[in-house]
Amino acid sequence: MAGTIPRDDMTSFEAVTWFFDQAAERVRCDDEMRELLRRPWRELTVAVPIRLDNGKLKMFTGYRVQHNGARGPYKGGIRYHPRTGLDEVRALASLMTWKNALAGIPYGGAKGGVTCDPGELSTTELNRLTRRFTQNIAHIIGENRDIPAPDMGTNAQTMAWMMDAYGQMFGHTPAIVTGKPVELGGSYGRDAGPGRGLVYCLEEWARLTDYSLQGSRVLIQGFGQVGSWVARLIGSLGCTVVGVSDISGGLFNPRGLDIPKLMEHVGQSGTIAGFQGVEEVSGEEFLQLPCDILVPAAIEGVIHSRNADKIQASVVVEAANHPTTPVGDIILRDRGIALMPDILVNAGGVVVSYFEWAQNIQQFRWEEERVNKELEKIVKGATREVIKLSDREGISLREAAFYIGVERVSRAIELRGFV
Ligand code: NAD
Repeated sequence: MAGTIPRDDMTSFEAVTWFFDQAAERVRCDDEMRELLRRPWRELTVAVPIRLDNGKLKMFTGYRVQHNGARGPYKGGIRYHPRTGLDEVRALASLMTWKNALAGIPYGGAKGGVTCDPGELSTTELNRLTRRFTQNIAHIIGENRDIPAPDMGTNAQTMAWMMDAYGQMFGHTPAIVTGKPVELGGSYGRDAGPGRGLVYCLEEWARLTDYSLQGSRVLIQGFGQVGSWVARLIGSLGCTVVGVSDISGGLFNPRGLDIPKLMEHVGQSGTIAGFQGVEEVSGEEFLQLPCDILVPAAIEGVIHSRNADKIQASVVVEAANHPTTPVGDIILRDRGIALMPDILVNAGGVVVSYFEWAQNIQQFRWEEERVNKELEKIVKGATREVIKLSDREGISLREAAFYIGVERVSRAIELRGFV
């Protein structure tokens, strides 16, 4: 597959595997090792039947994919989304394998999800769904086996329900999930982790490449857990957020958005729509607005062959997982647009999850200052490694990030000697 020309209609797993294959070629993995690294080690699909509030039974489908466990227990989020399916979960699990290896934290890669629209379910229905899903995957997870976390459509409350459902089966086990509420053993700084990690990563990249962030105009696609934290924190680098979008469309103001006011508005209405004093644009137009830095922080595959040539940013910083298709990636590169890849940029989420897991096992809480300091050390260190390799080999930052991840996982497999 390496050397093949990517297509725009690749599935998410095919696309991530394409990025992997390019790296495996550079790392000079032999064919057997590539097969071991490419394929998920375990995939579980479960029926998740629950009673809705109206008394009717509804069947949902849930997934947990454990992609590679060579470097430690599997780790990765749980997504609730109408389009979630096995292929997407596989792709996201594979990304977790390379991300955890790149960050140097002792985990393999996994991901899970339930095909559902959480916006259409009541709190009690979501609680029941989460409990039943947890029971049905309980035999393959564990604090030393596989540790879920939040992702799109799930949050700290979801993790609290998961912990409780697992605890009812096996006894109180806070380290079974991360991203919990602080009151139940969550870590300070976990909520902000992916956004804060992005800011550290961008800061280090700008320092090493002499890119001036002062006055840079930022567009953020997605205003959820990740995007809203990026919006709150990126101003500390001297940047101005000129636009944000969510599923309802985009908002733009070339002079900058009032983020605290927007947070208040979203807190009340649940969406950015209806925020006053800004220009409203469609989701598709949004990505093509004038800016310096574009932060996709929503879903997969939003930068592709049909819009990559229209993006005006000089830097794309991937907060979401797999927002750029392989064809989109090539177009951006040919246009000289710098791209900071997902497995580096959003690693802050899983790094603070790792701190939470370590705190739960030690039964000892860290102050937020310590969490942020340790996060900065890991994220900036990984950013330096990626930039150094990219410069040395003349490859893109994505290629360098995958190279490091693939090399570390294949080395772990060799050292274990299990095949
Ligand atoms: P979330 O559910 O909290 O928010 C998602 C946001 O994206 C919402 O504002 C939603 O309206 C918006 N959105 C959805 N579809 C859209 C579309 N077509 N166009 C524009 N906006 C759209 O999800 P999140 O946790 O912030 O996750 C966002 C991305 O970040 C995902 O790719 C996820 O895998 C990744 N990520 C999340 C974490 C985490 O800890 N939550 C960590 C690392 C990476």
